[in-house]
Amino acid sequence: MTKTNLRNSTLFLWLICISVLFSCKENTSTKTSENESVQTSEAEKEATAAHSEKTELDFIFPKGNKGPDKNFTGNAFNAGLVAPDSTYTTAVGNVYFEPGGRSNWHTHPGGQILIITDGVGYHQIEGQPKEIMKKGDVIKCPPNTRHWHGASEDTGVQQMYIVPNTEKGIVNWMEAVSDEVYNQ
Ligand code: MN
Repeated sequence: MTKTNLRNSTLFLWLICISVLFSCKENTSTKTSENESVQTSEAEKEATAAHSEKTELDFIFPKGNKGPDKNFTGNAFNAGLVAPDSTYTTAVGNVYFEPGGRSNWHTHPGGQILIITDGVGYHQIEGQPKEIMKKGDVIKCPPNTRHWHGASEDTGVQQMYIVPNTEKGIVNWMEAVSDEVYNQ
């Protein structure tokens, strides 16, 4: 083997070594990237599952006191936040409905505004379809209009209420919402 041939052979071997090293590094890098991608997708799945299975709601206000069975089906808890007075003539509070819990049919002489802070529920004005209410929704119940509101079957709801014009009255309670109406 001549000196030139030996140098060429050595160079060739080095090139092979470098190529192998580079290709190994490339494979490792690809594999790591695949693993990361798998991990991300698993994390996304877990986050989605945790969200869909979330039943514990965030409480901003105290849980409050259980509403009387004559006005509610299931469990509803009321926490008064602002008592109406002659200056503001407005009542503000929070109701937490457990899953399946709902109000009876009722009216508010001065109307009502609902602000949903967590969970999923329903509200319905008589003669109109039942509507879903969820975190971030703001709902107006017009004065002297029969309606009901409550939680969904599987998830509770945190519902802040504002009742204005309390000099006209706060609430007139009526009959319970039947399962047929609730499940429609
Ligand atoms: Mn109402």
